[in-house]
Amino acid sequence: MTVRLKLLIAALLAGGVLAAALLAPASSRRYCATRAFMGTEVSITVISSRDPGPAMDAAFKAIEAAEGRLSRFKPDSDVSRINRLGIGRSMDISRETFRIIEKSIATSRISDGAFDVTVLPLIKLYPYGKEGKLALPERGAIDEAKKRIGSDKIVLTALDDKKLEIGFKVDGMEVDLGGIAKGYAVDTAIAALRHGGITSGIVEAGGDLYCMGRRPDGSKWTVAVRNPRGPGGVATLCLANLAVATSGDYERFFVVDGRRYSHIIDPRTGMPVARGVASASVVASDCETADALATAVSVLGAEKGMELIERLPGVECMMLVEDAGGGLTEVRSSSWEGAVGP
Ligand code: FAD
Ligand code: MG
Repeated sequence: MTVRLKLLIAALLAGGVLAAALLAPASSRRYCATRAFMGTEVSITVISSRDPGPAMDAAFKAIEAAEGRLSRFKPDSDVSRINRLGIGRSMDISRETFRIIEKSIATSRISDGAFDVTVLPLIKLYPYGKEGKLALPERGAIDEAKKRIGSDKIVLTALDDKKLEIGFKVDGMEVDLGGIAKGYAVDTAIAALRHGGITSGIVEAGGDLYCMGRRPDGSKWTVAVRNPRGPGGVATLCLANLAVATSGDYERFFVVDGRRYSHIIDPRTGMPVARGVASASVVASDCETADALATAVSVLGAEKGMELIERLPGVECMMLVEDAGGGLTEVRSSSWEGAVGP
């Protein structure tokens, strides 16, 4: 499992065990727990005046259920079954899987195809996770894989309220919800906590997080955006009932001839994003939206990415853009300060 902490949650107690905190008033205490899901660590912190154990268990169960449906790494998930479909066949899918793919297609449309959950045939061509002397695939292989890419080639059919189907227009297509489903999983965990009566806390999955309510003293939660090229943070965000997701090239990448290639693919070129947005943090009212848009703007780059963000109400973004000499420039959307201020 890769342990990833893209956003350092300021002032949190160490995760891993259920622990009572010192900062909360005597009547309410802080509880933290961390478990491994989705190839990363999921941390839940809540402030509660009574035992939040059942609500936290329900939140972890919600994450586990989301992973069970949406992981391409689990052979029995909806996504793995979809990826074995081929052409000319369709299959029933759950309402939630249908809805998240629908949202993925919508995000593809608004980002001019930069966000595209059908990039898996391209991802499989590149040497992610491999060691030794690495090489890029042949152009011919990239062009061949590109024929199987495109959210417009996914067919979603709602026959009635209960019967929801998916199919592909082209043989060999596959989906990978890695760019959106972590955010969705965070949202389901927050919903489970709310259902269990919790009104204050944070759910964080590998750098994507949602801050629910406020801290016991009435202040917002504070989270720090990590420096993608060194230790420490580059900005502190104050959030209440908001999500932030960060996409970057600094944790999952490979290097060929001294050049760093991100795990995010530009579906238009068929190549991994190689230089430009070193990290993009997107703030939105739900984590699924923030997650998908952080991936989208990483592909679009600073100018087009910010144009997209500025068109979307209630969404803000901060990017760290790398120049040819390796220097980082911070770019912020117009209402960033207002959204993440104290
Ligand atoms: P993001 O920018 O949010 O997403 C990048 C990921 O999105 C890429 O890794 C790729 O999967 C996909 N992607 C690439 N380009 C595009 C594009 N243009 N448009 C849309 N999507 C794109 N990792 C493991 O190692 N083992 C596991 O068992 C495992 N299980 C997972 C289960 C689930 C349900 C999820 C959501 C993720 C899982 N992962 C697992 C992690 C996954 O492989 C990705 O690495 C991770 O989701 C990337 O998240 P991010 O926030 O770093 O980057
Ligand atoms: Mg994402």
